[in-house]
Amino acid sequence: MVLFVFILGLFIGSFLNVCIYRIPVGKSVVFPPSSCGSCGHQLNFIDMIPFVGYFIFGGKCRYCKASYSIQYPMIELLNGIVYALLFYRYGLTLYTLLYGIISSLLIVISIIDLKTQTIPDGLNLFGVIVVVFLGIYMFRGNYSTHFFGFLFGFGLFLVIAMITNAMGGGDIKLMGVLGLLFGLTGIIFVTVISFIYGAIISIMLIATKKATRKDYIPFGPFIALAALTYILYGNELLSIYFDTLI
Ligand SMILES: [Zn+2]
Repeated sequence: MVLFVFILGLFIGSFLNVCIYRIPVGKSVVFPPSSCGSCGHQLNFIDMIPFVGYFIFGGKCRYCKASYSIQYPMIELLNGIVYALLFYRYGLTLYTLLYGIISSLLIVISIIDLKTQTIPDGLNLFGVIVVVFLGIYMFRGNYSTHFFGFLFGFGLFLVIAMITNAMGGGDIKLMGVLGLLFGLTGIIFVTVISFIYGAIISIMLIATKKATRKDYIPFGPFIALAALTYILYGNELLSIYFDTLI
């Protein structure tokens, strides 16, 4: 069953690559079918076998031999691994479904933010719709924490953006979506962890001269990484924190 979920994750990962490639340039993600970016040859099912397909054809287009980025199989593998971990953690529940959709969305948001320094509004809107649609049923009895989570995430990052000028509108909206999803405790966790990730990785980038202090480093990927940490290990980390504190 875990293997099945992993393979499903690879296939959806393949679709995420299409989203990452097409959404920033305003193309439809469902039509036309995938084609080689170099020669335009339409790809058939054999060409699009996730992950292993890349290695069978040596990372090249079968028709024109143009090289494909290693990013494609890596995104597929990442999505497969995340789905397997989610299933292992949450089993056959609606949480696996909800967190699976959101994790894939976070992967797409991170890569697009890294490449274009923006998070498209449509992606945050898709997140809100999914969270509201499933949340109405899943969060019943706990609506208030999810409402306050939304206010905290959106409000705090709005204030940070106004003071520092370092956050974009996409980051603010994404924090609103995640606040609605995780509730108040969860979004506070995501806030703290995202700043820790941001600090560690920024220091590493500057220390290794891959970035300077003046470079703009997108914050979306840190939010996404913090959210994935919360989804997969939030309860454990919170209980360790409270056990050592109290
Ligand atoms: Zn080609």
